[in-house]
Amino acid sequence: MQLAHVRGMLLTSNVTKFHFEVIMIVQLIHKVQTALLVASFFGAGAASACDAVNFRTMTIPEDDPAPVRALLAAYRGLSYANDAVVMPDGTALPMGVIRNVLPAERLTSATISEQFYYTYPLAFDLTQRRKAWEDPGRLRNDAFFRALYFADKAAARKTLSKVSWSKGASASFYMTGKYQVACQLAAVFAALEAEGTDFAPFFRKSGGSFNWRVISGTDRLSAHSFGIAIDLNTELGGYWKWSGAKPGHATEYNNKVPQTLVQAFETYGFIWGGKWHHFDGMHFEYRPEMILYARLIDE
Ligand SMILES: [Zn+2]
Repeated sequence: MQLAHVRGMLLTSNVTKFHFEVIMIVQLIHKVQTALLVASFFGAGAASACDAVNFRTMTIPEDDPAPVRALLAAYRGLSYANDAVVMPDGTALPMGVIRNVLPAERLTSATISEQFYYTYPLAFDLTQRRKAWEDPGRLRNDAFFRALYFADKAAARKTLSKVSWSKGASASFYMTGKYQVACQLAAVFAALEAEGTDFAPFFRKSGGSFNWRVISGTDRLSAHSFGIAIDLNTELGGYWKWSGAKPGHATEYNNKVPQTLVQAFETYGFIWGGKWHHFDGMHFEYRPEMILYARLIDE
């Protein structure tokens, strides 16, 4: 091999190394800037930087059935043994089976497996929801969520952080710090602000966030109880019950919530009630396992 050739190779490898280092530094600066922007949405007292997870791009570990893979990737500290999800405190909750029951019964007494009965559409496609009872994410196993988050109101309250929107309209949302949900919402707001679109109308007349309560007519806790759900403008959202629709007959609705807004929420693990047959267009709920499961089914 000629000396000049060797020198050329060394030079190439140094240039590559230099490029690599520049890319690393640029990525690091971008990461720090993003973390600071995300932190700026937290209220005073909770202004620590946080590292939000992008659920559209995160790697999902292999093995295990798809619902289990989605759950374990979504919530750190969970494990899986003998067809049961093992909670961080060691409590084992059986995944359960997909039962041969009517949709209304599946909704009110879902097993953990049945939480994945309807696949959440990642595309901004409102045709799937026209099918009666197609409510991906609305099925929740009550015992699982109480074990995942909180058994009572006092425990939930202690973990809340304020996440605020202030561009053109002010709205504050109280979200749990558990599984860094408040951080994930702050990341949504940072993404929306970076979008440059005027989202202020959606932050007026907001329907709220933390609220320890059961779903009306049931003894199941609402997602708002855990500080994992927010309601944007109640007049723009559209809600199946207010439309006068009967259960299983909520096919028609005129959506006013734009795709860019919905996608920012989904990227950071929030599903949108506007994709439900029983539509709740103001409602966003932290359910990263639904996003990850949809990705796995898509593969
Ligand atoms: Zn809601």
